[in-house]
Amino acid sequence: RQFLGHLKQEDEQLNSFITITEDQALADAHAADEQRAAGKATPWTGVPFAHKDIFCTNGVATTCGSKMLANFVPPYDATVTENFRKAGAVCLGKTNMDEFAMGSSTESSHFGATTNPWGLGKGEKRVPGGSSGGSAAAVAARLVPAATATDTGGSIRQPSALCGVTGLKPTYGRVSRYGMIAFASSLDQGGTMARTAEDNALMLNVMAGFDPRDSTSLDRPVPDYTATLDEPLKGLRIGLPREYFAGDLNGAVEEEVRSAIREYEKLGATVKEVSLPHANLAIAAYYVIAPAEASANLSRFDGARYGYRCADPKDLLDMYTRTRAEGFGAEVKRRILVGTYALSAGYFDAYYLKAQKVRRLIQQDFIDAFREVDVLMSPTTPSPAFKQGEKSDDPVTMYLEDVFTVAINLAGIPAMSVPAGFVDGLPVGLQIIGDYFSEARLLNAAHQFQ
Ligand code: GLN
Repeated sequence: RQFLGHLKQEDEQLNSFITITEDQALADAHAADEQRAAGKATPWTGVPFAHKDIFCTNGVATTCGSKMLANFVPPYDATVTENFRKAGAVCLGKTNMDEFAMGSSTESSHFGATTNPWGLGKGEKRVPGGSSGGSAAAVAARLVPAATATDTGGSIRQPSALCGVTGLKPTYGRVSRYGMIAFASSLDQGGTMARTAEDNALMLNVMAGFDPRDSTSLDRPVPDYTATLDEPLKGLRIGLPREYFAGDLNGAVEEEVRSAIREYEKLGATVKEVSLPHANLAIAAYYVIAPAEASANLSRFDGARYGYRCADPKDLLDMYTRTRAEGFGAEVKRRILVGTYALSAGYFDAYYLKAQKVRRLIQQDFIDAFREVDVLMSPTTPSPAFKQGEKSDDPVTMYLEDVFTVAINLAGIPAMSVPAGFVDGLPVGLQIIGDYFSEARLLNAAHQFQ
């Protein structure tokens, strides 16, 4: 009740929630009390949290930030949703996001932009990052202690950095995508956002695991991610990718990140420079592959099956075209156009196939780097939270927000963003990148720093 009261009051300013499920939350809290009374409590029993509005929730609207799904009430739970429900956690609602998770600022939501709680003190309206900006702003403002999120090209790490919270994108296939609305299926991965690494570990304990309903889910044992948080970091080999300390990186952000890395040296880690030679190709490859997959995934929104349908269609074609013209926002349409073009006969080899080859080279860069070091560290974003409206007219500037994050998704490896300091009163994130299935090590490294 305390969390719900705070949430309803504070969120008028932030708009971090699309839906608040008060009645359901109170019923779930009651059920949690019974679970505890029956001696079946888990670490999550009765703990309030929120889901990004991309995870299907049985009987609760799941919009994906789009007019297309504004009226969609799923008849089933995503695996992630089901896992939290079984653990006895109490979902307070669904958080705001860029439409279909396409964006880096949570400004493209059909339900209005989310405001970053940082900056409000100075009277400034800054973006929380995106696409999981609602989850990040809600955790930063202490509306919920934890929230789920998803990351296709940076959507957990970049908002975590801009809002000063801790977020983890697991290895591709570690967390089930069943019931998580698809954007770019070979890149999408559900993950965690909370105040600390320890809370992220508790979340991942619930979320990770094999799911036969997701064909890309991996059947590997799930460790207790809290068990190794306290391991000493002595001897940890940290690599600093030269290419991630260059370009448009803000000097003050770089200084905060380097000072965080010096703390790791004090804890006994060794630091050396490494190279990811194909880093400069990541944005280009990502913005071919992600829209290509999106154009295929979003073909299902046709007005016939579920979601929005235009009024009074004249015939089938009119229904398809007007439904999609009216139901999708500008950025989603841009991606569908780019993706359809890249996949079309005559252009496929030049764009999509080429991008896939580049993707393989990017993956190999990481494989080579992890022969020399245990983890990589870098800034999460080139600069702190920007002002609302500052980048919304220029898609390419917005895409460049992802320079340090997209390659990780192309390779499928895990990475975290950890609060590392402040520039002009705005949070800065340290990105910690690991080899496949090294989530426990990343959480350990983040926890030792916190
Ligand atoms: N900002 C990136 C994009 O717009 C990544 C989004 C995401 O990770 N969902 O595609």
